[in-house]
Amino acid sequence: MKTYQNFINNRWEPSSGDAFLEVNNPSTGASISRVPESTAEDLAKALDAAHAAQPAWARRPAIERANLLRQVSAKLRQNVAFLARTIVEEQGKTLGLAEVEVNFTADYIDYMAEWARRIEGEIIPSDRPGENIFLFREPIGVIGGILPWNFPFFLVARKMAPALVCGNAVVLKPSEETPNNAFEFCRLLAETDLPPGLVNLVSGTGGGVGRLLAESDRIGLISFTGSVATGSRIMAAAAKNITKVNLELGGKAPAIVLSDADLDLAVNAVKSSRLINSGQVCNCAERVYVHEKVAAEFTEKLARAMSAARCGNPLVDTLVDYGPMINKQGFDKVDSLVRSAVTQGAQIVTGGDRADVTEGGHYYQPTVLAGCRHDMEIIRKEIFGPVAPVVSVSSLDEAIALANDSEYGLTSSIYTRDLSAAMRACREIRFGETYINRENFEAMQGFHAGWRKSGIGGADGKHGLHEFLQTHVVYIQA
Ligand code: NAD
Repeated sequence: MKTYQNFINNRWEPSSGDAFLEVNNPSTGASISRVPESTAEDLAKALDAAHAAQPAWARRPAIERANLLRQVSAKLRQNVAFLARTIVEEQGKTLGLAEVEVNFTADYIDYMAEWARRIEGEIIPSDRPGENIFLFREPIGVIGGILPWNFPFFLVARKMAPALVCGNAVVLKPSEETPNNAFEFCRLLAETDLPPGLVNLVSGTGGGVGRLLAESDRIGLISFTGSVATGSRIMAAAAKNITKVNLELGGKAPAIVLSDADLDLAVNAVKSSRLINSGQVCNCAERVYVHEKVAAEFTEKLARAMSAARCGNPLVDTLVDYGPMINKQGFDKVDSLVRSAVTQGAQIVTGGDRADVTEGGHYYQPTVLAGCRHDMEIIRKEIFGPVAPVVSVSSLDEAIALANDSEYGLTSSIYTRDLSAAMRACREIRFGETYINRENFEAMQGFHAGWRKSGIGGADGKHGLHEFLQTHVVYIQA
């Protein structure tokens, strides 16, 4: 079994403690590696390294920082097959999706590198004769990043790349479910000319080293992606030092299907949304509001499409559509939401149970539920599994009102050929992102930012980049 050490100063750094966390393959339940349960001392070393490296990094011309990031993306592209396999082994997504994740990550790093020559300040007109007001955009310094398990490799870059191009250093903590791919990412970083100390990775539990990182007075920003419950704890920990937070949290995306929609397009998009990564994606359609005129036809088509999907161990059968749930808790949550919906009157059209896969992991059948109501838990809570609950509605107004009545506000989608209905939905739907007649997937040049409990701030594009900068206004009377 592989044993990793923390990555500090471009070296493997043994932990000061002797506790390790075991990492399992969710497809089989087998142990695959051990990673340090890092101590406060380990975290202090990582923060020391980041503080030592950051000032010189910030002084380098931005284009040099960008060129070093491009070395990183090139390294990733040379190692796609190995990295994808590492992701699948501990996360359980399909090999094809893992390859997309690695390639997308490399593209994302290049995209952030492109910003180097465009991190601009502003000249602000003054009220006084002879005065100049300059607004500079400057790095924050050292940034803490805490990562989830669902796109664990991409999330390393979503924190690291904008932070570095802006002149910051980072200390990252991967999810305890999926640390291996982040350590392998770091192994490749050490093969580039990236100076030591800019990217440091310490593994451990959320309540342990994760909490210590969030409450540290040695970071200027904590950038977190994960659940709402943890986001709230991180915000409380950050409050001790008034540390800036950037929170990318859960979602409960509504998909609205109107009676004039291209039903095949809508079915295909909702199906893909529920099966990609076994339905464990923050931005994917978690509840479907279908106009009553087409509800029966839509549900029947969706059930047919979903039931044709196959799940299994993606490393054994590379043709499966999706893999296992990340762990038993994930499986139990999905199963209990489905069971409680059925008790409350929903009908199982297909699925609704453990899938027949004899591999040792926790696999859930592709599931469609009809007759769901807005007050059911399955419509209100994040499912994070291959389950599509369908609610029948009588109008666009009703669909928008139900969609908006959620504590989450990350993404949303609408399927219609009626331009004025689509535009009205855009104006009235209260979410950070809306997809019209297309699948749920954000672009790197967009801005992925949730409303309500789905987050504070956001990621990607110019606005995501600016999260990693602070402003400095200088008044010069000359
Ligand atoms: P999680 O909140 O359980 O864990 C995320 C990370 O937080 C892990 O590294 C964990 O160790 C750490 N953590 C836990 N408790 C902590 C604490 N008290 N202090 C500091 N760190 C702590 O989330 P998860 O199960 O890994 O990920 C799934 C969730 O992430 C879903 O809700 C999903 O919607 C969300 N997500 C959101 C986005 C987005 O862009 N909005 C992207 C991916 C995932």
